[in-house]
Amino acid sequence: MKPTNASTLEVISPKVRVDNDFITSDYEYQTSHVKRTSSGQLQVHPQTTALKIRTGRHVPKLGVMLVGWGGNNGSTLTAALEANRRQLKWRKRTGVQQANWFGSITQASTVFIGSDEAGADVYVPMKELLPMVEPDNIVVDGWDISGLHLGDAMRRAEVLDVALQDQIYDQLAQLQPRPSIYDPDFIAANQSERADNVIGGTRLEQYEQIRKDIRDFRQRSGVDSVIVLWTANTERFSDVRQGLNTTSQELLASLQANNSEVSPSTIFAMASIAEGCTYINGSPQNTFVPGLIQLAEEKKVFIAGDDFKSGQTKIKSVLVDFLVGAGIKPVSIASYNHLGNNDGKNLSAPQQFRSKEISKSNVVDDMVASNKLLYGPDEHPDHVVVIKYVPYVGDSKRAMDEYTSEIMMGGHNTLVIHNTCEDSLLATPLILDLVILGELSTRIQLRSAENESAPWVPFKPVLSLLSYLCKAPLVPQGCQVVNSLFRQRAAIENILRGCIGLPPISHMTLEQRFD
Ligand code: NAD
Repeated sequence: MKPTNASTLEVISPKVRVDNDFITSDYEYQTSHVKRTSSGQLQVHPQTTALKIRTGRHVPKLGVMLVGWGGNNGSTLTAALEANRRQLKWRKRTGVQQANWFGSITQASTVFIGSDEAGADVYVPMKELLPMVEPDNIVVDGWDISGLHLGDAMRRAEVLDVALQDQIYDQLAQLQPRPSIYDPDFIAANQSERADNVIGGTRLEQYEQIRKDIRDFRQRSGVDSVIVLWTANTERFSDVRQGLNTTSQELLASLQANNSEVSPSTIFAMASIAEGCTYINGSPQNTFVPGLIQLAEEKKVFIAGDDFKSGQTKIKSVLVDFLVGAGIKPVSIASYNHLGNNDGKNLSAPQQFRSKEISKSNVVDDMVASNKLLYGPDEHPDHVVVIKYVPYVGDSKRAMDEYTSEIMMGGHNTLVIHNTCEDSLLATPLILDLVILGELSTRIQLRSAENESAPWVPFKPVLSLLSYLCKAPLVPQGCQVVNSLFRQRAAIENILRGCIGLPPISHMTLEQRFD
């Protein structure tokens, strides 16, 4: 079977069936369960579960509604969709540049598929593994507290080459962000001069307006499915307390009562869930208070986040994994950033910086906890994160990190990394992946193969599959947070492979190691 029409790949297996609606694979899922005996012994029980995994083949026309549409990320995504759709080229000092999606795993990365007769590795584009939304067919809409149209928003962002901007300005100038919910208590006071496009009224009225906007977009654009994604400014954390937002009932009551501690982002998430739309949080704040998570679970709507993992943290989730995996002990990690875009301006306020600091700080925890030979039970590396606003560098964020590790016999190893991030050009492809993989996830279901009458079950509403793209991954209650980039990527690849009846990549290559 050919997973997608564009795919060069065909899976020849009696365990995979394709009909009009689904690709269905018979899948042997192998895990190991560990039990601790009273004497501290670890008993490992390998288990095999026979599953059926099915993937819907009908790719919907996808609409994406961005909160913060007129920001650097929002305008860059809109411009990139237009530039790629028209396959635009423009001249730079160094030659002719063509539009592309570098930095997107679905569009610009490949997946190891197997070895050929000569023993050589064979790769296919990730997007050819399963039917996925084509970026060219995505329709964008959204909200911004700043009323600039997208053409001027793109100019304000100062991200893309002017020769490209000039080719798409007229198209983007026709796109107007919808008025949004502005509460100066949640984003930095320095944003107030942008806020000329806002919805008035109570929190409940604002919530109703957002729901209306989603329905209006759906109807006017003719999209089949809508994802709402927050790429607006970082908010401060909201309080979490009983009576306010610890259950869905409390949260709904707080909305009704116009409680000022219900943040704009939580109102967006509530509206999105009520309209059955997946909601993704690209910023660090705690939009997903416990009551919101419960709401998503009750309505069986996906939520995912938090905070795009684009630059410094991405490196950290690779480097610390490598060090700890190599038996080397990171003992101090000092991270400095300076940036000059509007995100940096917003983060220069203490409460908004605090949200980012929290989001950036837990990224090494699971890797540290994985190695008891290096770290005692409560031992952690020193880890500090500093962010400074330096307007002149604009979107060209600089991240400087120093990793000091203990090596053999009390020796030390210090790695210093200087990373020029080009913030929005790194974040924009992640937004694309988040919505494409988020949409695909709505079409994947599994059930036991042993019981024909067992119901098909979807992913849990807290969509942890998107962890690869998130700095502080949200996972279902009681589940393990995984920050390691390699593990996060392997989860995506192996689940996509499972959908077309291929085993997980083991890298054992026994056929090449034994006669
Ligand atoms: P930006 O400041 O350029 O854009 C944010 C936009 O949100 C602005 O246009 C602002 O007017 C708008 N806005 C603020 N509050 C709003 C509200 N309540 N409703 C609607 N619009 C609102 O910032 P950016 O560089 O595009 O980044 C967006 C977010 O993504 C930030 O929170 C940032 O921390 C997060 N993020 C960015 C990166 C990255 O760019 N590499 C990485 C991780 C996280």
